[in-house]
Amino acid sequence: MKKIAVLGSTGSIGVSTLAVLKDFPERFQVVALTAGKNIGLLLQQIHAFHPRIVAVVSELEAEKLRQQLEGVDVEVCCGAEGMIRCATASEVEMVVAAIVGAAGLMPTMAAIKAGKHVALANKETLVIAGSLIIDEVKRQKVNLLPVDSEHSAIFQSLSGQRREDVQRLILTASGGPFREYGAAQFAAITPAEALAHPNWEMGQKISIDSATMMNKGLEVIEARWLFDFPAEMIDVHIHPESIIHSLVEYQDGAVMAQLGVPDMKTPIAYALSWPERLPLEQPPLNLCQLGQLSFSVPDVERFPCLQLAYEALAVGGTVPAAMNGANEVAVEAFLHSRLSFQGIAKVIEKTMLQHKNEDLTSVEQALHADLWGRHKAQEFINGGLV
Ligand code: NAD
Ligand code: MG
Repeated sequence: MKKIAVLGSTGSIGVSTLAVLKDFPERFQVVALTAGKNIGLLLQQIHAFHPRIVAVVSELEAEKLRQQLEGVDVEVCCGAEGMIRCATASEVEMVVAAIVGAAGLMPTMAAIKAGKHVALANKETLVIAGSLIIDEVKRQKVNLLPVDSEHSAIFQSLSGQRREDVQRLILTASGGPFREYGAAQFAAITPAEALAHPNWEMGQKISIDSATMMNKGLEVIEARWLFDFPAEMIDVHIHPESIIHSLVEYQDGAVMAQLGVPDMKTPIAYALSWPERLPLEQPPLNLCQLGQLSFSVPDVERFPCLQLAYEALAVGGTVPAAMNGANEVAVEAFLHSRLSFQGIAKVIEKTMLQHKNEDLTSVEQALHADLWGRHKAQEFINGGLV
């Protein structure tokens, strides 16, 4: 029985994770769950999985939850401290890190420090503090397993190979809902249009990140830290069908890839059970029915966020953290119609230009840079400067 904590259990990844865990009750036990504000869904999950401990974002939510849990044997805690308690609960062996955004960093770091293996969905953790996370993973000798489908594909395509033979990592990107938009069409993009991803059903933030292609930029940074290859060895191909989840090219010309129907349950299950594979009831990939797969080069003129992320990675230090903070604020402003779609990249670029970079030495400093990025971005948005 592997004992699991799911951080962000009410989100898109959290729900898919619990769907996998539910099908293998003889292999996994859910010990801890955390949610933001979706008390209704968390309540259902508590009744279905019987965790020993749960956490919600604030005392207000915790109190609401406790009122509905009379007679149920579960500890309810809250806030950042509560998330950390769940991530580090003594019996937990693996933490599924599926909180969205910078809020996921501290609990993930705490889990690693407590010697837990981590199945990582929360890519922002590696964007903000990649070097520090990887140092701690090595120190604690824990496994950091990718949940992100592209990184799961690369992880699988590297398996059994010599890393010195690797020539290039190729991340595939669907291109999002605006892949074929002409430059003139971007100005009128609405939040509803941007949330409608062609291939994946995901949380709001990552859906907007996919539409701007910042998601792929964050994933380039994530790949840099997970696999320890420099940015020059990480390329992005547009692949609208999302069937090839990513590829690794070797120095003899061989290219290894992982394919599958686009469903996060497959990479989630692999991270949960690696090196074994779980017998998931997935529809088989029918390549003959698909007929063809297509590829193209990303257009950074129309999708500048991808380029910004490469630049942040090249400069390093606290710049990726500042970029992340600015992105989170800009995405939120766009979702509330306080910023245009194109304004997202502009806000991030302006923020990055004003950031005073420092070498990254602590998680606190990384979070401080993220916070600085948030304030700066908010200033630009409030001032109507974009
Ligand atoms: P989501 O918005 O659907 O869910 C986020 C979860 O985090 C929810 O449980 C929410 O309650 C919780 N949460 C939000 N803010 C919080 C806070 N301040 N404190 C504590 N908990 C908080 O997001 P998602 O789509 O499931 O994505 C989660 C993470 O996984 C993101 O980092 C995303 O980039 C990554 N990811 C998602 C997908 C996908 O298909 N959805 C794929 C790859 C990677
Ligand atoms: Mg991905």
